[in-house]
Amino acid sequence: MKNIKKKRTILNVKPKGHDISYEYICPNCGLNHWLTNTEAKTNRFKIACECNCIIIPAKIIGIKLKYKKYSSKEKVSTSIPPVDSPKTDHEELIEPLKDSILKIVSDSLQEYGFEKTEAEELIKQAYIETKINDPVQLLKQVLQSLGANK
Ligand SMILES: [Zn+2]
Repeated sequence: MKNIKKKRTILNVKPKGHDISYEYICPNCGLNHWLTNTEAKTNRFKIACECNCIIIPAKIIGIKLKYKKYSSKEKVSTSIPPVDSPKTDHEELIEPLKDSILKIVSDSLQEYGFEKTEAEELIKQAYIETKINDPVQLLKQVLQSLGANK
């Protein structure tokens, strides 16, 4: 079996904090000075430059973080960074359960003594959970759901 993917939990998280520095260039000598966010927000903060001048940095009042807005369809995959991969989870999410996959898993379950309709119902439920067209993942999900109901 190739392309076996582990089922992963999708968590949408925004940063708890951020670390931003600001670079100021001395207009007199061109030397750069880095200020932390706290320093840049401090009232009357001064930088003593090596050229013997005093720089008063423009005070930063605040920064607004902007988040990408996702449509409701995309929402589930927001925690996955938009990297340049040819196949994204998003594509998989909208892919319907393949009949061929359904058959493979259904046949396996029937070997365990499940009725065909019963097996297919379980697989469809499992597919709603995993959304992965992979017989192994679906079979695992079915068995897991059966275990959870006991
Ligand atoms: Zn200077």
